[in-house]
Amino acid sequence: MRLKEKAVVVTGAASGIGRAAALCCAQEKAWVGVLDLDREGVETTVEEIRALGGTAHGIGVDVREEAGVRAAMEAVEEAFGRIDGLIHTAGVLEGALVKVDLFEEATWDRVIDVNLKGSFLAAKYAAPAMARAGGGVLVLISSGAGVRGGSASVAYGASKGGVHGLSLVLAAQLAPRNIRVHAVCPGNIETPLKMRVVEKQARKAGRPLEEMKAGLGAPEGVGKVLAFLVSDEADYVRGTIFTR
Ligand code: NAD
Repeated sequence: MRLKEKAVVVTGAASGIGRAAALCCAQEKAWVGVLDLDREGVETTVEEIRALGGTAHGIGVDVREEAGVRAAMEAVEEAFGRIDGLIHTAGVLEGALVKVDLFEEATWDRVIDVNLKGSFLAAKYAAPAMARAGGGVLVLISSGAGVRGGSASVAYGASKGGVHGLSLVLAAQLAPRNIRVHAVCPGNIETPLKMRVVEKQARKAGRPLEEMKAGLGAPEGVGKVLAFLVSDEADYVRGTIFTR
């Protein structure tokens, strides 16, 4: 009941960490705005939440498109009367294992657009709605790949470093409006995004996929952390959070 009578928007909620976060928020009794580019996946997550007895409002949206993001945030605010939390997980990892001198400009643009511009747009339209609700919590998903290093993709690591920087700027800027901002850096989590990279790495190294998969975490583990972060119980948490 941690999120009773709170409205939480989850982007990237059709798959992986976002889907897990949406379900965890619903289990804590939040009203959940389920946003993703993948409309079928949105419907599936909405149905799963309703099957749990929860409340969800699904919207297909491309986080790269300003008008769409604005309309989606307005629709969630209209449906629930407020937005108290944003968990922005929509993201892509492309160009894994490609050296910088062969890295395609189009791949660079796509990754930066989805991961970095998408985070900016989601924050731009969620923050004023939270301010109208008296405050809230804005959670962006960065990655150790962009903060500590070691990314498989030139553009992905750069985009996630940018998301981390964005969270630092927003934390200071939005604190006076009673909005707490975090960047969460998940560890290696078994999701479609991660598995595409692991499969490529296994092929390249000539190692069995099962061996490479060992040690990956479950999306639900991060989902629980994200649902906790948007609750009032996390009131004293600050800054960047690393999970396993
Ligand atoms: P995933 O591929 O399972 O889920 C990503 C979701 O984002 C998908 O449902 C996809 O449809 C959606 N999406 C992609 N582009 C979009 C767009 N333009 N507009 C709206 N939605 C879009 O991946 P995941 O691993 O769950 O990733 C979630 C987040 O966690 C990402 O930001 C990722 O970079 C980050 N992350 C993942 C890991 C990991 O190990 N899985 C580690 C660190 C960070």
